[in-house]
Amino acid sequence: MYVGHLAIGLAIKSKFPKVPTLPIMLGVGFLDIIDGLLIMFGLNHVTPNLQAGPYLFFDLTFIDWDHSLVMAVILSIVWALFFMKDKRVALIAGFACFSHWLADWPMHNMDLALYPYSAEHMGYGLWGKWGTGSWIFEGLFSLALIFYAWRNFGREHISILWPTVLLVISFFQLSPWLSPMKHAATLQEPAASLVHGFLVLLGFLVPGLLITWLINRAEKKSLNS
Ligand SMILES: [Zn+2]
Repeated sequence: MYVGHLAIGLAIKSKFPKVPTLPIMLGVGFLDIIDGLLIMFGLNHVTPNLQAGPYLFFDLTFIDWDHSLVMAVILSIVWALFFMKDKRVALIAGFACFSHWLADWPMHNMDLALYPYSAEHMGYGLWGKWGTGSWIFEGLFSLALIFYAWRNFGREHISILWPTVLLVISFFQLSPWLSPMKHAATLQEPAASLVHGFLVLLGFLVPGLLITWLINRAEKKSLNS
């Protein structure tokens, strides 16, 4: 899942407007930020596969250091620990982080290990089962969350127009037709994996920070009005 993670972040933030935005918006992408880095460092392994669709065009051969269930729990605790100054913020940051694994489960094609190097793998595999349909499903799922967030933020007189625009752009950017991963998958190794890792890293770091900035700006605006 991609844009769905960011939409979940928006929904969590709308439900807990007093909690700072950054622990949530970077939290929902933390597992993939680590994943992108570990792919670039060669600890995780991905394999170009243009048939894999619908927007990733890679098989996630070994992503156990961040996407196994045990590591997702550990990394969520690590992420929460950064915000321990306020236990409530830490709890919600940790939940935002773990929501990543929960949202990935329906999409991933049996590449989510139980723990690093475990033979047991999970993932309902909608990417493989539905192809482009899974991208549409992710879009509808995100839309429902955006509506929910829009309503909650509305009560606080906070507009999320620009975060929404950003999510819509991200959704079409990582579509079966426009995905930069499709190009990355045609490169020679190690370039293919390096570019893949870099795109995963940027794909969560940049929108996560941008949405944080946009929401913080909208919050200030509503306070001043
Ligand atoms: Zn993921």
